[in-house]
This record gives sequence, structure tokens and C-alpha cells, in this order.
Amino acid sequence: MTPLEARLLNEIEAGNPISVERYMALCTKQYYASRQAFGRGGDFITAPEISQMFGEIIGAWLANLWQRADAPPHVRLVELGPGRGTMIADILRAVRGTPDFNAAISVHLIETSPALRALQAARAPHAIWHDSLDSIPDDVPMMLVANEFLDALPVRQHVRVGDAWTERMLTARSGRLVFDPDTGPIRETAPARNECVARVAARIAARGGAALFIDYGYGGYQPAVDAASLQPEGDTLQAVKDHATIDPLAAPGESDITAHVDFASLARSAAGAGTIVAPVRSQGAFLCALGIEHRAAQLGIGLDGEAAHAVASALRRLIAPQAMGETFKVLAFRSPDWPPPAGL
Ligand code: SAH
Repeated sequence: MTPLEARLLNEIEAGNPISVERYMALCTKQYYASRQAFGRGGDFITAPEISQMFGEIIGAWLANLWQRADAPPHVRLVELGPGRGTMIADILRAVRGTPDFNAAISVHLIETSPALRALQAARAPHAIWHDSLDSIPDDVPMMLVANEFLDALPVRQHVRVGDAWTERMLTARSGRLVFDPDTGPIRETAPARNECVARVAARIAARGGAALFIDYGYGGYQPAVDAASLQPEGDTLQAVKDHATIDPLAAPGESDITAHVDFASLARSAAGAGTIVAPVRSQGAFLCALGIEHRAAQLGIGLDGEAAHAVASALRRLIAPQAMGETFKVLAFRSPDWPPPAGL
């Protein structure tokens, strides 16, 4: 039993019910504060950890958009949840090729985990760290990027019991955590995610700029769909430990708990806050439109068998539909005075 599970069982015993939403928030906080989560030795591997090409392409996307937005002299480049700092390092290396953009940006990293901040500092020594968006000045346009950040913010689950929907909770049975109720149709909402996207969008609408969120999830942007319509996916809560999927209740605080991102809902939040939202596209289509295959060919020049194979296989993992290419999606929005971003 993990220390967090013991604490939660005590709370339940004392008569305090725990929602799935609060459970997920507590697990995630504990997990990122204490574990070396990512990379080949960690519990899971993310796109920037697969290949430098991912961050480089995003760096080129940022520099290109900034140039077409008439090159504002100062912009705040913000990353939400930078993990090991790999993506920001690859972005910063790529944008050195655009000296004007490089000179215009100040780098701000939003990260709550002290352990991860230390790793990020080794990769982006000139960055400024924040607990949230609130402490980042909103004096100049903002360009914000986030990869696999939203999936870690908690979902709320609702279960249908008879004719009514009730919030799904956790209770204790035989000394272990169980879902309550444990059967019935489930739907998810994610108020914390909608709030996060809406706050980013409100700031961009007011001050200029653009945001790019990449994550795994479902739903194209359908402005006509009723906001209250049921999300069709049901229960998407999942936990990963040591590269294997486990029961989300099995190791609270020691497994990576995430849930699918409802992109249509987040696109509505961004549009509602006054930004222009690009059609939601798959990661594979986005990266290919931006030329990742050419970048891979360039990286492969002069490499021998094994190294060339590594580049080709990283490319496949990022863009192939049966790998990350389709499951991962891209949500981008901009202020009305900025041009449409490339690749969408
Ligand atoms: N973007 C990285 C890491 C993804 S994991 C990559 O692609 O590899 C999620 C990241 O979000 C971690 O850095 C975690 O510490 C951070 N995080 C999770 N919840 C957060 C919150 N509420 N506020 C700020 N950062 C958070």
C-alpha cells in the first residue's frame, strides 16, 4: 500500500468521501513531486523524449508565426509542464537560427514540481519559473506551448444511476480503494482543463499571441455541437507504471494517472474567451505539414545503419497512425490580430 493510499483510506474512514477528480489531483501532485517519471528509464516516454525533431519543429513553428505577426520586439515564450526540459531545450536550439526571434523572447516555465524544476534548469538556464500563469507579466504578447500537460489535470467522472447522473467517488472495501458506484455508464468532464485553456486564451485575446497544446485525446472542433452534449468516450482514466498499464487505484501517487483530453470542449473554451481556434488536427498531420520528414532525412545524412534506423523509427513513432500520429492531437489558437499558424 502506498502512503497516499493509507492517507486516503483514513480520510474515507473519517467520513470524508473522495471524488475521482480529487483523487486524480492528489495522485498527480504526489507523482510528479517524487518520481523520475519520464524517459526511457521512467514510467512513460513523451514525444520530445522520443526525438529532438519534435521540439525543433515546434521551435520553427513559433519563429515562423512570430515573423508573420510582424515580429513584435518582445514576447513571452511560456511552457506549461516542461517535464525534463527536453522540448524547451530543442526549441531554444532551433530558434537560434532566427536571431531576431531569439532576441525577442523571454522564457517562462510553469512547473510545480521542485525535482523537475531542477532538471529543467540544466536545460534552460535563463528561464524564469512560475507556479501558475498569474505571476507572468501580461505586458507583451505571449506564445505558449504545452505537451502532455492537460492530460495530467484532473477529470471529474459522473455515473448514471437509474435516471440520474451522480459524481463518481471512491470508497473503501476490505481495506482497499474502490469506485463508488462501480458500475453504470460514465461520462467525464474536466473543469480544471477548461479553466486552464480559458485563462490562457483570455490573456492571448487581450495582449496578442498564440498557444499550442498537444495531447492525447478525442474530438475535432465542432462549434455547432451543444456544449452540454455527452462526451461519448466513457471512462478514460488510466495509469501507467514502468511502461505498463495498471489499475488506476492500484498505486496512488506512484503511477502516472491521466485521462483523454476532450479537444472539442477545450476548443469551445478557447473560442469563448475571444481567440481564433484552428481546426483540431492530428499530431501526425501537423508534424508532416511542417516538414518533419525532411528534417528526418536531413538528420539521417551520413549516419550509419543503427543510427539511421533510430531516426527513422523515431519519425515513425511520432507520425504513424498506429503509434502517436492519430491519438495525439493539436489544439492551437491565436489572438484575432495574429495570422493563422502554419500546419493547421
Ligand atoms: N511536457 C513534458 C512533460 C509532461 S508530464 C513532456 O512532454 O515530456 C506533465 C508535466 O506537467 C510535468 O512537468 C508535471 O510536473 C507538470 N504538471 C502537472 N500538473 C501541474 C500543475 N497543476 N501545474 C503545473 N505543472 C504541472
